[in-house]
Amino acid sequence: MPLIKSNVHTHTTFCDGKDSMEDMTRAAVAVGMDTLGFSFHSFTPFDPTYCIRDYYAYICELKRVRAAYADKICVLDGVELDLYGERPSVCDYVIGSVHYLKEEGHYYPVDLSARGLRKIIGQIFRGDAFAAAERYFEEVGELAEKIRPDIYGHFDLITRFNADGSFFDEGAPRYKKAALAAAGRLPDGAVVEINLGRLFKGEGGMYPSEWLIPELRARGCRFMLSSDAHCVQAIGYAFDETCEKLKKLGVRSLVRYKGKELVETEI
Ligand SMILES: [Zn+2]
Ligand SMILES: [Zn+2]
Repeated sequence: MPLIKSNVHTHTTFCDGKDSMEDMTRAAVAVGMDTLGFSFHSFTPFDPTYCIRDYYAYICELKRVRAAYADKICVLDGVELDLYGERPSVCDYVIGSVHYLKEEGHYYPVDLSARGLRKIIGQIFRGDAFAAAERYFEEVGELAEKIRPDIYGHFDLITRFNADGSFFDEGAPRYKKAALAAAGRLPDGAVVEINLGRLFKGEGGMYPSEWLIPELRARGCRFMLSSDAHCVQAIGYAFDETCEKLKKLGVRSLVRYKGKELVETEI
């Protein structure tokens, strides 16, 4: 049973997840969680491929699953709201995320593929990967001002395909300056995800990168473990190991949802 018994970043077949809402709920119960939040990708009219398709069916199913498993787990109704996505009128919490670089009215996804990102950098940013990172972090700063989410999703998603450093050097002053400027725009006490989606896929480490954890902490951020689960196996994956890693980076406690309440847990 994991020390942190909740995950509120969960996708299903209603958007780009592989498993149903009921299967995800059963999996969360099986690993010992007391709270599971569903966070569909908000509707983005310029890119309907991966986001919510039938919101009405989604809400009906969520209510059914919530009632059916009420004695085992608390099911929350959340959203992963893209900076350019449509906000639902009601929900339990909002994860704010940047997935696109906006340029002259067009939206370019940063997390589709390494090839795709290389093409965007080449064609839109004249081959300057740092300029793409600067645009990305500028938008993360906008998240804080325009959306004010309850949770900040994958803070440095722009590193999605940079595990081998082939796009840019995260230690370079230009990159650090952009990332830290975004960190400085988050409100005091902001909840930042420790997102384990990429780690689960075996394609790199957690978001944010380790060097950013003490920097965010120094700026007053709090942290929440997050599976960003797209299949049942991802729920709670590496939670305890990540707690150990975070402790070594100076993190003493994490926040999490227990039911609808945000609580702090020492690690
Ligand atoms: Zn996302
Ligand atoms: Zn997600």
